[in-house]
Amino acid sequence: MGIVVQKYGGSSVADAAGIKRVAQRIVATKKAGNDVVVVVSAMGDTTDELIDLANEVSPLPPARELDMLLTAGERISMAVLAMAIQNLGQEARSFTGSQAGVITDAEHGRAKIIDVTPGRIQAALADGAVAIVAGFQGVSQTTKDITTLGRGGSDTTAVALAVAIDAEVCEIYSDVDGIFTADPRVEPRARKVPRISYEETLEMAAQGAKILHLRCVEYARRYDMPIHVRSSFSQKEGTWVVRAEDVSAGGAQGTEEAGSTMEAAIITGVAHDSSQAKITIVGVPDKPGEAAAIFRTVADAQINIDMIVQNISAAATGRTDISFTLPRGEGQTAMAALAGMQDQVGYESLQYDDSVGKVSVVGAGMSTSPGISARFFEALSEAGVNIQMISTSEIRVSVVVTEAQVVQAVNAAHAVFDLGSDEIEAVVYGGTGR
Ligand code: ASP
Ligand code: MG
Repeated sequence: MGIVVQKYGGSSVADAAGIKRVAQRIVATKKAGNDVVVVVSAMGDTTDELIDLANEVSPLPPARELDMLLTAGERISMAVLAMAIQNLGQEARSFTGSQAGVITDAEHGRAKIIDVTPGRIQAALADGAVAIVAGFQGVSQTTKDITTLGRGGSDTTAVALAVAIDAEVCEIYSDVDGIFTADPRVEPRARKVPRISYEETLEMAAQGAKILHLRCVEYARRYDMPIHVRSSFSQKEGTWVVRAEDVSAGGAQGTEEAGSTMEAAIITGVAHDSSQAKITIVGVPDKPGEAAAIFRTVADAQINIDMIVQNISAAATGRTDISFTLPRGEGQTAMAALAGMQDQVGYESLQYDDSVGKVSVVGAGMSTSPGISARFFEALSEAGVNIQMISTSEIRVSVVVTEAQVVQAVNAAHAVFDLGSDEIEAVVYGGTGR
C-alpha cells in the first residue's frame, strides 16, 4: 500500500459525465489499497473562458486579480469531483492550493513553487479520505496573495505534491494514451513510447510537444519521481517517464512489454511548435557588446527567446545579422523594445516573420550515433521543406521552417527515423484543442 498522486487535466473533467468517470477511477484506485491524492485542472476550456471574460472588462487585467479569477476554475472542479466521489460512498475532501500547502514566490501568472507543506493532505489521508487539490495555484509566502503557476501548471502541482508526500508515482491523465513519437493530431502513424527519460521528455516539452508542463518534468527529474502519463478515457498502460538508466533496463515500475520494445531506439520522437516568430536584426556593427545590449533589452522585456543565429560579418561592411526565434505572442513586444534601441546599437533594420515553426528530433541515442542531422535534413529536402535556422543539443536537432511546412516536416522526420506504427495506435479521446 502506497500513496498515488493522480492528476486529471481539463479534458478529463470537461463535464459532469467526465467527472463521474474520473470519480470511479479514483475510487477503484483507493479500493485497490492505495492512498490517493488527486490534482485537478479546471473543467474543459474554463481557464480560457475566464481569461476572455477578464479581457472583456479590462484591456490589461491586473495580475493579482487575474490569478484570483483563474484559480476559481480549479476550485469548481475540485469541489464537484469531491461530491461525485462521496456519492460513490468514498470519503473525499477538496483543498485549494493554499490549503494544500503549496507555497510560491510572488510572481503572478508564473509563480514558482518554493515549498510544499502538505499537513492537511496527510491528515485527510490518515482519516481514510481521498484528498483533492486544486491544480496550478498556490499562495505567496511574502504577499500572502493567491498565485498561479502559469498555463498547464497543474502537472507541476501534482509532481510537487507527490514529492512532498513521498508518493510512489505521479500519474498524469489526459486525453491521449501517453507520450507519442509525434503529436497524433498531425502524425496519424505516431506510436506510443512505453518508457522515456526525464531528459528526453524535457527536450520534447521544451520544443513544443504538448505532453507535460516543462517545470513538472524538471521537478520530477530533480527528485526522481516517476511519472506515468496515461489517458483517463482508457485503461491502457501509458508512458513511464523515468531516469535514463531505467529506460532500457525495463526498471522497477515498468511492464515487461515496455522494457523489451525500447532498446536501440536512437530517435525517441519528433516535437513541433507552430506558434513561433522570427526576428532578424540586420546590419549590427561587429564589435564587443552589441549582442549583449540587444539580448539585455529583450530579456528586460521579459521575453523568453529560443534559437539564436549570428553570421560572420561581411569584411566589407564590418556588420553582421542576428536572428532569433521567440513565441509568436511576444513578437510585437520584442519588436517594440528593439526598435527603441536602434540609435544605441546602430543596426540598419529589423525584420519580423510571424509565421515560422520549429520541428525537432529528440533522442538520447543520437549523442553516440553519427549522421542523424544528415538524415533529418535529407528527409526535409526530399519533402521540399526549406530550413531557415538550425540548432542542436546533445540529444536534439531542431530546425525552423515556414509555418505552412511544419506538418510536412514532422511527417518526413517521423518516416525517415522509422518511428511510425503499422496500425493506428493514437486515439485522441477528448479536448477541443484550445
Ligand atoms: N487550468 C489551467 C490551464 O488551463 C492549468 C492546467 O490546466 O494545468 O492552463
Ligand atoms: Mg486546462
